[in-house]
Amino acid sequence: MTANAPTPPSASASPRSRSGSSASTQIVHRSCPTCEASCGLDVEIDPVSRRVIRIEGDAQDQRSQGYLCPKAYAMKEIYEDPERLRRPLRKREDGTWEEIDWETALDYAAARLNAIKEAHGANANGFYIGNPTGHNVGGQLYLPALINALGTQRSFSAGTMDQFPQNVALHNVLGEPWMFPIPDLERTDFFVCMGGNPLVSQGSLMSGPNIKKRLQAIVSRGGRVVTIDPRRTETAEIATDHLFIQPGADAHFLLSVCHVLFTEGLAKPGRLAGFTDGIERVREIAARYSPERVAAATGIAPETTRRLVRDFCAAKGAWYGRIGICTQEFGTLASWLVYVVNVLTGRLDAEGGMLFPRPATGRSEPGRPAEPFVYGRYKTVARGIPEVTGQIPCGLMAEEMEAASAGEARMRGFITVMGNPVLSAPNGERLAAAMDELDFMVSLDIYLNETTRHADLILPSTVQMEHENYDFLFETTSVRNFARWSPAVFAPEADQRDHWRILVELGARIAGAPWEAVDDLMVKGLLAMIVGPGTRCPDVTPEEAFAKLEDRHGPMRMIEALIRVGPYGDRFDDASKGLNLARLRAAEHGLDLGPLEANRLPAALPIPRIQLAPDYVVADLDRLEQGLAERSRADRLVLVGRRQIRNMNSWLHNLPALAKGPNRCTLLIHPDDAGKRGLETGKRVRVASRVGEIEVECVVSDEMMPGVVSLPHGYGHQLPGVRLSVAQKQQPGACSNYLTDELALDVPSGTHVANGIPVEVRAL
Ligand code: SF4
Repeated sequence: MTANAPTPPSASASPRSRSGSSASTQIVHRSCPTCEASCGLDVEIDPVSRRVIRIEGDAQDQRSQGYLCPKAYAMKEIYEDPERLRRPLRKREDGTWEEIDWETALDYAAARLNAIKEAHGANANGFYIGNPTGHNVGGQLYLPALINALGTQRSFSAGTMDQFPQNVALHNVLGEPWMFPIPDLERTDFFVCMGGNPLVSQGSLMSGPNIKKRLQAIVSRGGRVVTIDPRRTETAEIATDHLFIQPGADAHFLLSVCHVLFTEGLAKPGRLAGFTDGIERVREIAARYSPERVAAATGIAPETTRRLVRDFCAAKGAWYGRIGICTQEFGTLASWLVYVVNVLTGRLDAEGGMLFPRPATGRSEPGRPAEPFVYGRYKTVARGIPEVTGQIPCGLMAEEMEAASAGEARMRGFITVMGNPVLSAPNGERLAAAMDELDFMVSLDIYLNETTRHADLILPSTVQMEHENYDFLFETTSVRNFARWSPAVFAPEADQRDHWRILVELGARIAGAPWEAVDDLMVKGLLAMIVGPGTRCPDVTPEEAFAKLEDRHGPMRMIEALIRVGPYGDRFDDASKGLNLARLRAAEHGLDLGPLEANRLPAALPIPRIQLAPDYVVADLDRLEQGLAERSRADRLVLVGRRQIRNMNSWLHNLPALAKGPNRCTLLIHPDDAGKRGLETGKRVRVASRVGEIEVECVVSDEMMPGVVSLPHGYGHQLPGVRLSVAQKQQPGACSNYLTDELALDVPSGTHVANGIPVEVRAL
């Protein structure tokens, strides 16, 4: 068996020239891993000099048909970035760095983490998973190799600054945290978008290339696109309707939508009623929240709410919510209520409504066991915040590290996996200081950045151009079913490591086992669950299936196993024409697996019935009621985030093509609010919250709702000791998360409030 064998470019490359290209160049077809859209790209390379000549949209790609956005160039620029790390870096005692070899680095990391574990227990180590992991199949599949070896309960991830409320709501309503209902953009006539900006994001948890064209198509066929957001976003500019809403009042508004549905006889779940519990309980809850009662809190006039609900019910509609409804004070309630509205109107699992993708890896197929929703099995040391399905709010990392907060039970060893939490987690300044109290910190990262500068050791993986990939997460969030394998464009150098290999090697060393054996065990463990009696492959034994997988360590063995037993798979039958790894690899422009299907429920649920009013979620309504008065205050100024087309959190700021141009880290403020403070566009302002303050330039714009200001996140590149010279020079900005209060949480999920932070703004 080979280890980490590179996939040569020729596996999916056309050695043809195109106009203006040398005959010696090759075009490699692969998907872009930078956002959820997974656009197909033509990457033209010179294989001899290992240079990328150009990147264009792949016109033959089944999914994107030639579309790409400016971030497609990120792959090339990350690959070429001279400041990108290629070998392990160890910090010397004087704070300078030295390159070391992989064996030394991995032995060192495992020894230090094990020493902490032996002296202080497993929970003395902790880890943070950043969201680039979601864009790397090896990262997703091999995290358990490291996490299980560590055995710690101190588990933090970027999810608690992102989609976690949706996971919690789904887990309680559908019995499955990752079974996202996706708007059927191809057939809907009425698309409601709350707290999302798909024109810029390409549709998070609703992924599809060229979302602009898809939304414009809804309008062209006579439909409506309604955005509900405290900012008139880029998506709002092409929508038919836009409603401003007060940050944090989405749950109040959605309850008033339910109120109208019940009081006007528009609640018609249709076939869903046959397998849904809790509809009457929702009716009782919604009875308290008339549009009139919540209008002051939401900022939406009662008649506007009523008209919207009637129009939605009269059309084939899909109601969608994203980051703005998650990272706020009532994120779980708001996420839950989006699902409630779709169920009450019969739009869940209906054509033109919210549908469930059918991934080739088979993760929404009937018959899979339900994973129980668990919480409160343990609590944080410093403040006693309970875990939720194994997650602890990432903003609590600092206090768990601090001797003053957590005492002898503090976190002493720490691993960051592909993330920059000093910029992306709440109160980054406190976190940065707390990291210096750690006994040992290791970062799996390709940059010496604001977070990894605190590490003792940095382990850099190959980058996208150097490893193969499968769009594993985003086939579960796509607006159309698809499967896509991407080859490595260049073979990595001999002493580079793929991310999956670093995870499994480090995990195996901590556990004291050969990494190859751990890898085989993971594959065999997976096969034991998906083949054999009682599975979709009852006549195949795990041993037979294992023997039929490709003879190579790495993530594609697990992907192959899942695909072969999945809904389009060959079931390990050599005579079948079903999907297997060879057929997947042969589809160099990706595989279109058809439109999303309706009527998959209840068979596709892991629980017998939808639980529309789950106790765990409903219990948070008391807090919502208390929050009503606070939301109605006219004198508040609150901060929300905003996403930008050339940004992906903090990842792309060191890339010249994406960092160029004027300063993008600006505070948007409504003219009325600016006037009260004597501000005008271009002035520097100080923005202060309970936990910190920053200085930025302001832009006065009526795209903001009065009383709301907006900052993008991921900036703040002026700290010493990093190697991000482009970011520091061209887009240093200021870190909006220095204003995010780590104590403000959506209680049921432990997700931080990044939208709706009370702030003061004044001219400098
Ligand atoms: S939309 Fe997303 S996947 Fe497509 S090119 Fe841009 S960053 Fe890449």
